[in-house]
Amino acid sequence: MKRAYKYRFYPTPEQAEELVRTFGCVRLVYNKALEERTRAYKMEGRGVSYAESSAALTAWKKTPELAFLCEVSSVPLQQALRHLQAAFANFFARRAKHPTFKSRKRSRASAEYTRSAFRWRDGRLTLAKMGAPLDIVWSRPLPEGAEPSTVTVSRDPAGRWFVSLLVEEKIAPLPPVERSTGLDAGLTALLTLSCGEQIANPRHERRERRRLAKAQRALARKEKGSKNRAKARLKVARVHARIADRRRDYLHKVTTRLVRDNQVIAVEDLSVRNLLKNHALARAISDAGWRELRRMLEYKTDWYGRTLAVVDRFFPSSKLCSVCGTLQEAMPLSVREWVCACGAVHDREVNAAKNMLLAAGPAES
Ligand SMILES: [Zn+2]
Repeated sequence: MKRAYKYRFYPTPEQAEELVRTFGCVRLVYNKALEERTRAYKMEGRGVSYAESSAALTAWKKTPELAFLCEVSSVPLQQALRHLQAAFANFFARRAKHPTFKSRKRSRASAEYTRSAFRWRDGRLTLAKMGAPLDIVWSRPLPEGAEPSTVTVSRDPAGRWFVSLLVEEKIAPLPPVERSTGLDAGLTALLTLSCGEQIANPRHERRERRRLAKAQRALARKEKGSKNRAKARLKVARVHARIADRRRDYLHKVTTRLVRDNQVIAVEDLSVRNLLKNHALARAISDAGWRELRRMLEYKTDWYGRTLAVVDRFFPSSKLCSVCGTLQEAMPLSVREWVCACGAVHDREVNAAKNMLLAAGPAES
């Protein structure tokens, strides 16, 4: 199993300069290749292969205007083309939207190095075109004897540098358990379990939101292009980064516990994109990080020998009585509690979670 380990690191001024230049070249190559592909598709109705993009890159490097592409490691540039290839494959398979251009301001700056473009020796990582290893903060150990196969360097909008190491790892499945659970992604609670337990949204989020709003107001008051504006923008980015970090930590704790305690986890295949169209719900859903939570559940159930059962999103989980199976005609969002003709009293979310588990069927053993 491949697993990524992400750490902060502190580049020397030379390393930072080399990386910033590499990020710029990666972005340029990605955008140029995207432009070329879009043109080929629109004008000639044809796709462009990776080999073709790669040949184009070689040609660009030979032109005087783009000769600077030769100054950085060629591997991250090749990887950018591979990422674009994958993005188009997802687009054509209807799994993703059409790839968009990477912007210097809005996109996360990153560069990916494969085995030939870095040296890994005695736990020290040296990237191509660099003399010294990176000064990495090993906040948790890499597994014993791990050999990274791919290394991704990035810088977030708050100016922090990260390196992610992809390593091959054997993960032992957990011993089987009897319990299974259905999950309902809620508005009042982050999650409701079929046993009735509710997992709250992280408590700090509201306070951080206020801090963010304050930083954003301060930014809006600063003059465009001024030094103070740049400082204020960095401050906004730092608050964003802290919110995202703490939310991720929280989701890791929640998903690890769910996967440890349950053999089957049944979730509704909610399309986040569809839900976000409803603006009243948008904030709560993005805050809850449902998409991230789903992703974590997917790989953790896979690692630990558990099952994630995804229930069709047209399954009427809120309208069904989980006791007698009667379907209610309507169940507006404002209804939090209801009584079925059979006499069962339901909490909206607990009932939905129970139905999810029923729909997933009995646990496979
Ligand atoms: Zn009933």
